[in-house]
Amino acid sequence: MKNETGRSFYINTFGCQMNLADSSIITAILRDVGYRVAGSEEEADIVILNTCAVRENAVERITHYLQFLRGAKKRKKSLLVGVAGCVPQHLKREMLEMFPAIDFLAGPDTYRTLPVLLQDAAAGNRPAAFDFRIEETYAGIDPQRPEGVGAFVPVMRGCNNMCAFCVVPFTRGREHSQPFGAVMDEVRRIVDGGYREITLLGQNVNSYADLEGGRDFASLLRAVSMEAPGCRIRFTTSHPKDISRDLVETIAESRNICSHVHLPVQSGSTRVLGRMNRGHGIEEYRDTVALLRSRIPGVSLTTDIIAGFCGEEDEDHEATLTLLREVRYDAAFMFYYSPRPGTAAWKTLEDTVPLEVKKRRLQEIIDLQLSVSAGLLQEAVGSVVEVLAESESRRSAEQLIGRTQTNRAVVFDRGEARPGDLVRVLISKASSVTLSGVNKGVLPVFYS
Ligand code: SF4
Repeated sequence: MKNETGRSFYINTFGCQMNLADSSIITAILRDVGYRVAGSEEEADIVILNTCAVRENAVERITHYLQFLRGAKKRKKSLLVGVAGCVPQHLKREMLEMFPAIDFLAGPDTYRTLPVLLQDAAAGNRPAAFDFRIEETYAGIDPQRPEGVGAFVPVMRGCNNMCAFCVVPFTRGREHSQPFGAVMDEVRRIVDGGYREITLLGQNVNSYADLEGGRDFASLLRAVSMEAPGCRIRFTTSHPKDISRDLVETIAESRNICSHVHLPVQSGSTRVLGRMNRGHGIEEYRDTVALLRSRIPGVSLTTDIIAGFCGEEDEDHEATLTLLREVRYDAAFMFYYSPRPGTAAWKTLEDTVPLEVKKRRLQEIIDLQLSVSAGLLQEAVGSVVEVLAESESRRSAEQLIGRTQTNRAVVFDRGEARPGDLVRVLISKASSVTLSGVNKGVLPVFYS
């Protein structure tokens, strides 16, 4: 359905890396049929909010923006506003009643229908598409990525795990993986495009399964690492129960697969993990951490924690604090539990922990984690690390910021280096979240 009107669009992306990748897919779909990319919402004829429903305040986060767009529509009558992603998938047509500014809605598996939705919306209707399409992996679409050092590749979508607190199975549907050949085609295009880092994405990335070729995630990761020897390879998010020995060996053996694993634990208590329906106990989690640490020297781990889940007692909370001290995560995403409508916990579990207790427990978790993170950064002072330069630092054009293999941010003097270069940096200082160092020269050879 060609757009003959020359209309332009602007996408405002909320949420995770998967949403950023989806915005690149939406851009490709709309450009393919003749829409132009606008530089800002003020210039655009169509504004699309690509939304995330994982956190409790997802709707509040887009409310102000939709109010602003309602004002913009009064000034520019032809402006169309659409909401894509997990929030409309979760709230469905209720969103149209909540927000008069919205002209169309599109769930995560329906982006190929956007040209039709846009025509329908331009005709004055308020169309909405929420189908789950198990076969939809957006294979064959060449995402229009922003220029930069890193590129995201969604290799699987959806989740079969049904953790009790999580809306993802309801907003993204069942797991469906992109065929191996399509992933490799995308990787080749990224390499040709001059990117230096590839992040393989999935809600539960290590459940990747190529149905035709029988490849699992370890096999895919190995193949991507070999196809892109000049790039760093990252992946997220892993479920602890799906970290196989083969996957660990693949990371250990490949020089360009980064030694960082995001390994959400959510709670340090087996009892709470059971109520969360996480599919493993804390001792199995500890075994996985031990395996990663023994096979990948210097591996950094990050995690997600929920404080005050249904039925959490003081001793469960203490178990979480003990785990944080023991594992020494580089960083953590930390929240207190709030019930999300439609989830198993919302339907079947009592939200027993009072809000002030949740907040106190969360603060204890944050305080401990911040001190662990700061300690780890302090220990890095004096070491020499390889940093992939990403961009100018916000403070000074004379400095660049980049990341170590272990995903630590490092600011250093620019010297001869440019974004995309791999630079040896002597770490001279640590703040609570960032390392600073001295540029010791650009590395002439990039991994291969
Ligand atoms: S593994 Fe659990 S927390 Fe992660 S997306 Fe699936 S259901 Fe949600």
